[in-house]
Amino acid sequence: RAKAAGGNRYEVADAASDARVIARHSLTNGLPAALEKGEFFIEYQPLVRLEDGTVRGAEALVRWLHPVHGVLGPDQFITLAENTGLIVPLGRWVLAEAARQARAWRDAGHDGEPLRVNVNLSPCQLRYPDLVSDTVAVLDEAGLDPAALCLEVTENDLIGADEEALRPLRQLADLGVDIALDDFGTGYSNLAYLRRLPVSTLKLDRSFTLGMQRAPADPVDVKIVEGIVSLAHTLDLAVTVEGVETGSQAEHLRMLGCDTAQGWYYARPGPPDRLHELALTDVASG
Ligand code: C2E
Ligand code: MG
Ligand code: MG
Ligand code: MG
Repeated sequence: RAKAAGGNRYEVADAASDARVIARHSLTNGLPAALEKGEFFIEYQPLVRLEDGTVRGAEALVRWLHPVHGVLGPDQFITLAENTGLIVPLGRWVLAEAARQARAWRDAGHDGEPLRVNVNLSPCQLRYPDLVSDTVAVLDEAGLDPAALCLEVTENDLIGADEEALRPLRQLADLGVDIALDDFGTGYSNLAYLRRLPVSTLKLDRSFTLGMQRAPADPVDVKIVEGIVSLAHTLDLAVTVEGVETGSQAEHLRMLGCDTAQGWYYARPGPPDRLHELALTDVASG
């Protein structure tokens, strides 16, 4: 392909991919020190109960304040961290920091139930033998009720997992930690399989709610969401929708019976103090 485009283009393409390789290398090399130097930070994005618009918690989303490249999103470094094994200490740091934050929200106090925090787990962490004991230690240290924590694992990471591989998640669920199936709908888990998973929530991938951003909504997307909600509720699972960007989309998803929503319509990911303010003011009416 590059050859057909002529000698010049070939050179350019090569130089660009070299630059990418070098960039990846320098990011990878910088990862361990970044954790020690405290260059990672977490933004929190509210999770809103659709029924009444109250903030019930937030998802913790990690960022890297890189000394040269500025703020990097997880899509730019999580895979590198997974390939180098740094994801385990990084993931543990995110969990500890998020738990500490959830405890701080509780201590700051507001009406209603305590705010909960969602933390993403990488498949490497699922395979890590100390996941359960680390999580218990983190909750203990933060003085946080396990029910205030939700761990998100993607559907794809669980496909094909046998009973043995699911054991740590089951143990965490038995302790009272919520487990959510993230990016749901992008994998191919069947009904029977879904029943066997120790999950309490399906997080419907953004791609399914995209067609509902503007009225009139895409009728096929509406049918799909309807079907998933009815399936989920039959299995006693809650449904969270991602990528809610408009008011009409939020209203439509509420009418379809979705339980919780997350997206720019309510708030972009932001600093922890803002979440507490949002919880006090009720985002949906503001
Ligand atoms: P995710 O868990 O599916 O998180 C949702 C992503 O959608 C976030 O991207 C969020 O900023 C973005 N988002 C939220 N609302 C909207 C919206 O209304 N419209 C659009 N277009 N996007 C929206 P982000 O922060 O870049 O994170 C990307 C992914 O990185 C996450 O996807 C998650 O899989 C992963 N990730 C984030 N933090 C961690 C972490 O601490 N550990 C691990 N293992 N993965 C993480
Ligand atoms: Mg997530
Ligand atoms: Mg997600
Ligand atoms: Mg997603």
